[in-house]
Amino acid sequence: MKEATRRGLIFGAAALAAVGVFAGVDHVASSTFVKDEPPLAPDATVEIVEFDDTGRRIGKKQLHKVRKTETEWRNVLTTPQFVVTRKAATEIPYSGELLNEHRAGIFRCADCGTALFDAKTKFESGTGWPSFWAALADENVREKEDFSMGMLRREVKCALCDAHLGHVFTDGPDPTGLRYCMNSAALTFVPQRAA
Ligand SMILES: [Zn+2]
Repeated sequence: MKEATRRGLIFGAAALAAVGVFAGVDHVASSTFVKDEPPLAPDATVEIVEFDDTGRRIGKKQLHKVRKTETEWRNVLTTPQFVVTRKAATEIPYSGELLNEHRAGIFRCADCGTALFDAKTKFESGTGWPSFWAALADENVREKEDFSMGMLRREVKCALCDAHLGHVFTDGPDPTGLRYCMNSAALTFVPQRAA
């Protein structure tokens, strides 16, 4: 079994039902229910800001939303990536691979590669999840109300492929006061190459 699949994930009942018997789950700590959204129009597009791997802004681009069936996502994602980004599961705190990633670079969506966060905005929140005080571009993430866990939270999703990334809270540090609380499995880190 791959190390990554042994890592704990917090599942909702819907997520568990969707993945069936998933022997890699160590813990079922809580539940998460995310409201279904209406289906996308066939040719839905979204404006994304593209960045190169050094974090340099390339420019805005109108792109077709990335759409795949559940089976197609399963085929291209690891199990932790699938259950987090497609079933809105949450990693057990301190279990994610990117929590202690401190190199310069950018974090891209694990599902579609959209640039999401710069390592310059990563900070130690003490929560056990990778935390950022800003997104690279507001266009690249979208927020949605999430009433699960008995409280209102702002779910954060990738604007291009709708991957569930985590939640954003308003108790973050300066200069924004925001805390993007992310799942490692939803992100791919691209370290900045030495010049
Ligand atoms: Zn994405």
